[in-house]
Amino acid sequence: MSDAAPIVTRFAPSPNGQLHLGHALSAIVAHDLAKDAGGRFLLRIEDIDGPRSRPEYADEFRCDLEWLGLEWEEVPAQSTRIEGYVAAAERLKAIGLLYPCTCTRKEIEAAGARMGSDGLIYPGTCKRTAPDPARPPAWRLDAAAALEQTGPLAWEDELAGTTPVDLCQLGDVVLLRKDLPASYHLAVTLDDAADGVTLVTRGADLFACTHVHRVLQALFDLPVPRWHHHPLLLDEEGEKLAKRRGSPPLAARREAGEDGLMLAQQLRLHIIGGGTSQG
Ligand code: GLU
Ligand code: ZN
Repeated sequence: MSDAAPIVTRFAPSPNGQLHLGHALSAIVAHDLAKDAGGRFLLRIEDIDGPRSRPEYADEFRCDLEWLGLEWEEVPAQSTRIEGYVAAAERLKAIGLLYPCTCTRKEIEAAGARMGSDGLIYPGTCKRTAPDPARPPAWRLDAAAALEQTGPLAWEDELAGTTPVDLCQLGDVVLLRKDLPASYHLAVTLDDAADGVTLVTRGADLFACTHVHRVLQALFDLPVPRWHHHPLLLDEEGEKLAKRRGSPPLAARREAGEDGLMLAQQLRLHIIGGGTSQG
């Protein structure tokens, strides 16, 4: 490390389901990048998914991480930071960068939305015509207006290199959900800054989201970290490993007496070997 400041990474799981091998890999990557450089590794529970977030899962996550042999510092969970998210969103509303949207998914599909790198790209219906006042709105970031304000931006990924911000792949994302006082994009950006994270590590499936996060950092004048989007663990058919594809959750492996340290070592070798399949 040439930087004088110590490296700070984090693992930020959402307690709305169990952790699987892919999560273990994410946690190990973040842990090792920090610890190998004498830095700090943080755990942040991203529990703002309403009734889907359950504290039992968060407790289970801590046992899983310990079983894998990781050491961490836990920072406050997202549910304790809601006021900050709302205040930040209000600042964006005040400068006209958020607009209300009452479209349902069906309506967005019917409007001919095309698929982007993170789901359907919002076709801008509510930007052109006033949304239905009878329905509670979500609030979307006006991407074009935001970029006009920030000017061209780029961000550094340790694997992909310098990446210019391109919001065309995502469109006007939701920053305040109808049912929640935040969204993943807003909360994660504010929290990584508040927690002093200097290297944001996560799976490559979230690569495109970083474009939005970089714009939010510029709008809120936050420090800009570096990123490390690690390759995903894939199964033999080349698909993302998920629970439904038969990989047991970490808790089940732990309870069955599997050696967590050994599993962590295997995942590390997998990272170093750069392979994509796992048995
Ligand atoms: N809570 C998010 C997830 O579990 C975190 C993603 C991230 O690391 O930014 O997918
Ligand atoms: Zn809409």
